[in-house]
Amino acid sequence: MSDLIVGIDLGTTNSVLAVTLEGRIKVIDIHGQPTMPSCVGLDSAGKLIVGNAARNQLIAAPDATVVSIKRKMGEEIRVKLGDKEYSPEEISSFILRELKIEGERQLGQPIKKAVITVPAFFNERQRKATQIAGELAGLEVVRIINEPTAAALAYGAGRTSDETMLVYDLGGGTFDVSVVVVEQGVVEVKASHGDTHLGGDDFDDLLVQRAVREFREKHGVDLSANSAILCRLKVVLERAKCHLSDEPFVSVREEYLDGQHHLEMEISRAEYEEMIALLLEKTLTCIHQSMQDARLIPKDIGKVMLVGGSTRTPIVHRLLHERLQVEPRWEINPDLIVAMGAAIQGAIIAGEKNYSILVDITPHTFGTTTVAVRDGFERLVCAPIIPRNTPLPASKSEVFFTMYDNQDEVKVDARQGESFLPEENSLIGDFLVEGLSPVPAGSPIIIHFDLDLNGMLKVTATEKHTGLAKTVTMDTRGNRALDVDEARRNIASLIGDPAAGVATNGDETADVETEESPEELLASAKDLRKRGEALLTKGLGADDAEEIRKLIHDSAEAIKNRDWAALGGANDTLSDLVFYLED
Ligand code: ADP
Ligand code: MG
Repeated sequence: MSDLIVGIDLGTTNSVLAVTLEGRIKVIDIHGQPTMPSCVGLDSAGKLIVGNAARNQLIAAPDATVVSIKRKMGEEIRVKLGDKEYSPEEISSFILRELKIEGERQLGQPIKKAVITVPAFFNERQRKATQIAGELAGLEVVRIINEPTAAALAYGAGRTSDETMLVYDLGGGTFDVSVVVVEQGVVEVKASHGDTHLGGDDFDDLLVQRAVREFREKHGVDLSANSAILCRLKVVLERAKCHLSDEPFVSVREEYLDGQHHLEMEISRAEYEEMIALLLEKTLTCIHQSMQDARLIPKDIGKVMLVGGSTRTPIVHRLLHERLQVEPRWEINPDLIVAMGAAIQGAIIAGEKNYSILVDITPHTFGTTTVAVRDGFERLVCAPIIPRNTPLPASKSEVFFTMYDNQDEVKVDARQGESFLPEENSLIGDFLVEGLSPVPAGSPIIIHFDLDLNGMLKVTATEKHTGLAKTVTMDTRGNRALDVDEARRNIASLIGDPAAGVATNGDETADVETEESPEELLASAKDLRKRGEALLTKGLGADDAEEIRKLIHDSAEAIKNRDWAALGGANDTLSDLVFYLED
């Protein structure tokens, strides 16, 4: 039997665990429910509680309960839980650990490996934080995949008809949209866009603000600085918000909210919809951007797939229908579909056949800071190396040149973002290449970026001068903001078993795969096909053109037949030919 690799949707509000067993996807009930609230708390005895138990005590013990920690992932902050402080990675590890333990109980076998989903628009730091959370929970995170991609994978699995669709995922904390093409069972993401700080939580906040305003006007009492009351309001108003998806009006009554006065408030769906209109407009801008990136117009979209709890709000449905002229649909269960897709990805990695193959992209551009002349002035700019929407894994190099005679060192950085101004893009890491050879200015330095299937970057800089090459490799995993051993010690007392958090093999993700995976083969095939087609438009000799056409055909056939050996062969030959002809 192949390895068990589970799929985990680590959500802002809810988390879900799914597996594939004998070719079938199964969502595992946690504490009797398919979704587990992503809440972590300490009970009155100081014991760790996770899920519903923690959520239920939120109003009574807000200081001993943490919610929506996902919104803090990747930030260097610590949150208070009882009288200690924890990093977002540590808090998230408690959620993952609960899923692992409960899952093991349900399945009757150990869970060691997982595919964890993240919003497509999560940056490198947020992805790394998620991976570390998994490690702290004693899981080997074999892959990080994007949530909308997972949803598309669950939808596309086993489907033979071709389709271009838009996956719209509006959850509690984040928003993502992806343009996805399912073709012959290959799920290919064309473009992704999103906002990692936009979701149901923000809608709740708007309702809370309104309640605070009304309370002040009616009773002259300002609640805005009382965090316990705000927390209580958020809980009741979130519930009211959900009712508004089914009812045109909802009344909220909270007795003795400030100890003296009652809160009584009626909200209509129309008012609520107006309140969130601006935020929803932001999601439409993201859709627009991703369609533009994928070079599509609304007419090309065959299906709009809704994912995430907040898509139950009727106006979301209406807006999308209106703007895209396609009736949006919930495919499968919008709360579970992401975890199901992660489980499928797990099964694919474990070597199970008969599943869709996935080609994912990077939604962000990766580049490096360099000096360029703009408007007659020298200034620092960010030169893109891997543009956004490039299929993963991606491997690209650019050449840069030294600026001074006898320049003996060069600083290389890696940035993520779309701006040409380095300071507007987030810094992933940097390093110094020292001891360059004493040559005149203009000596070439090749910067190579490798972006893996998890969306993690590795950077290599090579000085290329008369056969002398120096290479420094920056693996951003080594650049952690968080010391994992330190974190393990910090959480040990809460999880009761100091050994429990020890991952099987600290650096397993650094393993080098010798054989190319189907995803890698597909990514290369796609790139080569594009280059081959570009050559065909340039007027080649008849023989060369014929050969290229044949290889492109072979490559398509191999993909159709899932014949990876044949695809590898076609790639190799095409690569040689393209390389030769491009010169
Ligand atoms: P996440 O993936 O971020 O954990 P979910 O997809 O589970 O989020 O969605 C949670 C969000 O959906 C919460 O903000 C919740 O209030 C909202 N939500 C759930 N049910 C409804 C509903 N019926 N109407 C409107 N919003 C809802
Ligand atoms: Mg979600």
